[in-house]
Amino acid sequence: RIAYVNGRYLPHRHASVHVEDRGYQFADGVYEVCEVLGGRLVDERRHLERLDRSLRELAIPTPMTHAALSAVLHEVVRRNSVTDGMVYLQVTRGVARRDHPFPPPGTAPSVVVTARRTDRAAQDATAAKGVAVITVPENRWPRVDIKSTSLLPNVLAKQQAKEAGAREAWFVAPDGTVTEGASTNAWIVTPDRRILTRPAEGGILRGITRTVVLEVAKALGYQLEERAFTVAEAHAASEAFITAATTVVMPVVRLDGVLVGQGVPGPIATTLRLKFHDFSEVS
Ligand code: PLP
Repeated sequence: RIAYVNGRYLPHRHASVHVEDRGYQFADGVYEVCEVLGGRLVDERRHLERLDRSLRELAIPTPMTHAALSAVLHEVVRRNSVTDGMVYLQVTRGVARRDHPFPPPGTAPSVVVTARRTDRAAQDATAAKGVAVITVPENRWPRVDIKSTSLLPNVLAKQQAKEAGAREAWFVAPDGTVTEGASTNAWIVTPDRRILTRPAEGGILRGITRTVVLEVAKALGYQLEERAFTVAEAHAASEAFITAATTVVMPVVRLDGVLVGQGVPGPIATTLRLKFHDFSEVS
């Protein structure tokens, strides 16, 4: 495997950053994960636009143009012969003597890109059965709209889910509403067939998959409502699912050990999964 590190393509096992990198010291960085399908990037433009926004919100300088970044992303995919999989891009505030305030102007951001294959057949098999989700109290900082590498609450929630035999953990705000998953956006379908997902302005990351799924759902004529839903509503739902670039649409069939709907992937989630790539942009 080959990784890109600050201008060089290196064997994966030698691909490292400096111990004083602010990504390592402070989790002072942002990232993107883009699905690779048939060797091409899915919704790359939107991922690069969101990267720009994350960088801007944290006042990390833009490391290179979209064209240059895109070339690196494609090259890493190519060098790793990834047909189906994902490409990971991380930008940190760079290497500087450990000190909390920003490093001196001119400190170059660090850029790392890796790619790996995913087993699509295995993932489709998982989707055909659906996954389990647990709920955990929301304990993240309010700026979850920034795709930061600072992910400790997400790591702990995901581990808790794993230990409970679940795929994902949904964060629950003090008012009882679900914000999102540790690495996915959260959705339910009400018994009267309305699709609900939390507004992007309200305590979630604006998932690229979420944006595209909203377009797919609209195009297919489903009733949509961007509003927060409670855990109680999720328990009363006929379907639930999660979305992210790596898993696209993944049906949820169990919530905190209780079956969602009939306990099998619902027709709407299944249709959205099937139709997703008709609406996403590949490059
Ligand atoms: N929410 C969180 C917290 C995430 O980490 C992710 C993806 O990693 C998502 C939502 C889904 O975003 P996307 O669809 O852009 O992958």
